[in-house]
Amino acid sequence: MMLNIVLFGPPGAGKGTQSEKIIDKYKLSHLSTGDLFRKHLSEGTELGKLAQKYMDEGNLVPDEVVIRMVEFKIMNEPESPGFIFDGFPRTVMQAKALDILLENMGQAISGMIILDVDEEELKKRILLRGQSSGRTDDQDVEKINNRIRVYREETLPVAEYYQAQNKFYKIKGVGSLDEIFKDICRVIDNLPVNMVE
Ligand code: ADP
Repeated sequence: MMLNIVLFGPPGAGKGTQSEKIIDKYKLSHLSTGDLFRKHLSEGTELGKLAQKYMDEGNLVPDEVVIRMVEFKIMNEPESPGFIFDGFPRTVMQAKALDILLENMGQAISGMIILDVDEEELKKRILLRGQSSGRTDDQDVEKINNRIRVYREETLPVAEYYQAQNKFYKIKGVGSLDEIFKDICRVIDNLPVNMVE
């Protein structure tokens, strides 16, 4: 059985940073839809051009586009021991599509971990990241506010979707990176999928 983790939380919660640590320890494949879109953008692909205007405004890229890209990535890694989904799924429709995709492979989501960080802290972190990341969506307060609003309105319902499946785990996303990582590992090591093996 694969270990498939959804790392969830608002923009700036630390999903990317913690993903790196999780991948290192559990040898999972990283699937960050934000990273994939930025790669398409920098390579000037059709997909990148399509995504750009949504990303610039801090709005969500349409579900069909996201799902197609994710499917392509998963199909290209048939030997993967499992995935860490970072920044995806961001809508209930994406979550349902992911369930179907995994089900067709005889797999499932093992658990969803949400990093809990308050909004003031998020805004501070994103602006700080914007000073070095070069990401234009990290440098504009209006865009940042819009992303947090989109998260609250469109993405938070995804948490309820996993809660209904008993796959929901909340972690405090404020503190030292190592403390947060330790909490994440505790959740992963105690997932039902790890208990049956
Ligand atoms: P952050 O979590 O800091 O907002 P991401 O790199 O996850 O950064 O996402 C950057 C942008 O890429 C989002 O604001 C959105 O426009 C687009 N995006 C990324 N993932 C998705 C997704 N699963 N669905 C729709 N849009 C997405």
